Parts: sequence; C-alpha cells; structure tokens
Amino acid sequence: MDTVIISSILSIGGMGLLFGAGLAFASKKFAIEVDPKIEEIIDNLPGANCGACGYPGCSGYAEAIAKSGAEVAIDLCTPGGAAVSAKIAEIMGISAVEAKEPQVAVVQCRGNHEKAPKRFHYHGITDCAAAELIMKGDKGCVYGCLGLGTCVESCPFGAMIMGSDGLPIVLEDKCTACGVCVAACPRGIMALIPRSQKIFLGCVSQDKAKKVKEVCSVGCIGCSLCSKPKVTPSGSIEMNGNLPKIVNPTADDLPMAVEKCPTNSFVVRK
Ligand code: SF4
Ligand code: SF4
Repeated sequence: MDTVIISSILSIGGMGLLFGAGLAFASKKFAIEVDPKIEEIIDNLPGANCGACGYPGCSGYAEAIAKSGAEVAIDLCTPGGAAVSAKIAEIMGISAVEAKEPQVAVVQCRGNHEKAPKRFHYHGITDCAAAELIMKGDKGCVYGCLGLGTCVESCPFGAMIMGSDGLPIVLEDKCTACGVCVAACPRGIMALIPRSQKIFLGCVSQDKAKKVKEVCSVGCIGCSLCSKPKVTPSGSIEMNGNLPKIVNPTADDLPMAVEKCPTNSFVVRK
C-alpha cells in the first residue's frame, strides 16, 4: 500500500516538475518584448479610458504613440491636458507641444419643462437616442433636449447631472472636455467651447421663427438682431443659416447681444 502511495506522489511530483520546466522554457522562448515606453506612457495617462484621444482606451493611445515614434500627436488626451502631453514628450524624447486652449462642455438648449412643452408622454426606455426614434421624441421642438440624461450617463468623470427642470447641467470644475457627452447626445446639443468663452447660444433649432415660437419660448428665432452692427459692432456674431454664430468668443460686445436678444436665447456661463 505504502509503495503505491509513494510511487503516486513521485510520479505526480515528477509530472509537476516536467510541466513547470516546460512552462518556464515556453515563457522565455515565446516572450513578447513590450516597449517600456508604452508602460511609462500608460502610467502617466489618467486611466479614464474615455476615448477622447480617438483610441480604444489609454493603453491603445500609449501603444500608438510609442509604436509610431511620436508620429501620432501627443496632445490628444484632453483629460490629461498640457501636463500629460509634456510628460509624454519627455518620455519620447521630443519637444513638448504648445498647450491647447482648455475647453468645457455646454448644453446648447434652454428649453426646459416650462419653456418648451412636450407633444406626448414617452414611456419607453430612459435613453435619448431611443426616445428620438419614437416620432422624433416627445418634445414639441424636434431639435431640443429630450431630457433623459444620456449625456449625463455617458460622462466618465461624473461632470454632469440632470436638473429638476429637465435639462442637463455640466459641473464645470469636473469637466475635462473629453467630448464623450458630445458624441452621446443624439441631438447635437452638447458642445465643447473654450473655457474663456463666457457666452454661447442655447439653441440648435433650424426651424423658422413661427415654428420656433410655437414650440419654445426661449428658442432662437433667427431674427439676426444680435449680429447687427448696432448691437455687435466688432462683427463678433455672424448669421449661419437660421442661427447666429459667435465668431469672436471673447469680444467685448457679446453682452450686448445677450441683452438685446428678444427671445433670451443666449446663455452666460458663471
Ligand atoms: S461633461 Fe462631457 S466633456 Fe465634460 S467630462 Fe463629462 S463627458 Fe467629458
Ligand atoms: S443634451 Fe442630448 S443626451 Fe443630454 S439629455 Fe439632452 S438630448 Fe439627451
């Protein structure tokens, strides 16, 4: 009996040793060399895997930079900003790039529950893209915010909340300008603007004035008053189709446009 147990232990132990040696050999023989620069870059990226850089996560971006010999731009990580791109430049042994102007996400719609009523009651899943598929959404304005918070859910940095008035709110101190909410909104309501820009248009409607007035009391009616020289003499606003476009975001005459807009369609950031 003892002999059987001892021989079993020896044969199992022997097999273990054999397989262990085989694995050790294979791990050396088939080892894939990992460029240490990739690891170093990954260590310096924020690790949010938000995709703002256009690559599948932080490791994808790190690999692309290292493998391209820095042919791939090193300043695509907006959450990391200038500090991260400077660090990547150091790792890659290249010159740092000029820092981009910091941006922030904004909600280009002022049509809350009170100002922009709904056409019907939507009882589907809580997702703006899904709601959009049902008769272009429940909102009277077919361009306005659907208020189901798909942008809020998408934000990897917890920088958005839903307001009680049915419109999302960006928590600017947390926003990294990754642009994930911009891509998530099926109505093109989320946008990134320079942080230095304090005034923006809170409307993306392409409807004509009569239709806008029927569905929203703060929608832009495209009257073009804000772009007139008597309101913005510097030419800071130009008409772009039915909507005014701010061409000089830091112009001193923009507050006058806010004041003169008959529909109160501009938003002033705090
Ligand atoms: S609010 Fe938008 S841009 Fe800002 S961090 Fe969230 S998803 Fe990114
Ligand atoms: S901004 Fe866009 S994604 Fe966000 S709640 Fe409104 S419609 Fe939905």
